[in-house]
Amino acid sequence: MALDFLTIRDIDLQNKRLLIREDFNVPIVNGRITNSARIRAALPTIKLALAQAKQVCLVSHLGRPNGIEEEYSLRNIVPVLQELLDTSVYFSEGLERTLHKIVLYENMRFFPGEISDDVGLANKLADLCDIFVMDAFGSAHRAHASTVGVAEHAPLAVAGLLLATEVDNLNRVMHSPKRPLVAIVGGAKVSSKIQVLTSLLHVVDKLIIGGGMANTFLAAQGVDIKESLYERDMLPVAHEIMSGPMANKVILPLDLVWDGNKIMDIGEKSCSQIKQHVNNAKTILWNGPMGVFENPLYATGTIETAKYIAESNAYSVAGGGDTIAAIDVAKVQDSIDYISTGGGAFLEYIENKTLPGIKALTRKVKYVS
Ligand code: ADP
Ligand code: MG
Repeated sequence: MALDFLTIRDIDLQNKRLLIREDFNVPIVNGRITNSARIRAALPTIKLALAQAKQVCLVSHLGRPNGIEEEYSLRNIVPVLQELLDTSVYFSEGLERTLHKIVLYENMRFFPGEISDDVGLANKLADLCDIFVMDAFGSAHRAHASTVGVAEHAPLAVAGLLLATEVDNLNRVMHSPKRPLVAIVGGAKVSSKIQVLTSLLHVVDKLIIGGGMANTFLAAQGVDIKESLYERDMLPVAHEIMSGPMANKVILPLDLVWDGNKIMDIGEKSCSQIKQHVNNAKTILWNGPMGVFENPLYATGTIETAKYIAESNAYSVAGGGDTIAAIDVAKVQDSIDYISTGGGAFLEYIENKTLPGIKALTRKVKYVS
């Protein structure tokens, strides 16, 4: 399927200043990057830009900081970025223009107006460049100043290579997928993903819910989840799904692993149940760990799930920052057909077949002869 928006390959970059929106939202523990997959995924576009353009400016968000928090400074990723690019990268705390060939600006979420898509901030970003390049697939579902606003104000807004590849691969899955289509959704971002679940239900044959995401559903069914992570506001949505016509598509955990009063992982019976559905599937979508997999004590459900998917003959697509990290721990990267850098974005793209950050890109002109 041909893409209907411009990509970085369609335009002349000579003498141009580029501003690339990256997804450098990598997992960081005590200032150290624990998984650099998202940075590595950004390299092809950056290298192409460095080879042809006059200047390359990079922006991204990192984590969910409350104002300026050193822990979430993008300065933390400079050493890894320099090593991967084999060149020095100038780091700028403010949004000033510089003459450096490659500049990494501070965490976009340190700037007021990023999340509210403030026009002033969007304009300031647009002023930094001749061409805006959107390559942050993982952030394209959010209409922020550095994803949508800047695209609307820059003279030209095109897709980077990563974004174009992601869209291409996901279009392939969505375009008449082989059935049964089984989606497995877990993780912690309940409120940002639960709405998507409702519409995913229309598309999939089975929806397996695990991780923190399952807790809200279990609570809606009257299970006492004690002090486990869940979202009270989302109880009505979960209840509606479980009492609606598509409840039979939903597969919830059968047993759980607890740490005191908190659910930390899915149990053995839940794993067997997942294995059975995965074996039966022809297409599998996976986003979100089944438990707190960062702790080896509670990683079993997630690692087992990754292995079942890797061993199945179905076409498998997985995405999400933490999901990618879990796939690395399970060492099954090579047995999953496509690994998307997006988590929430990945689910939302499946749902809507586009994203705000993609809609804002410059369209290809259709010539009528
Ligand atoms: P992704 O980055 O792949 O989109 P999320 O960010 O939504 O995934 O979720 C990943 C996080 O969910 C992990 O940090 C994991 O510890 C957490 N998580 C999974 N299950 C639970 C649970 N039962 N309770 C608390 N946190 C959980
Ligand atoms: Mg995550």
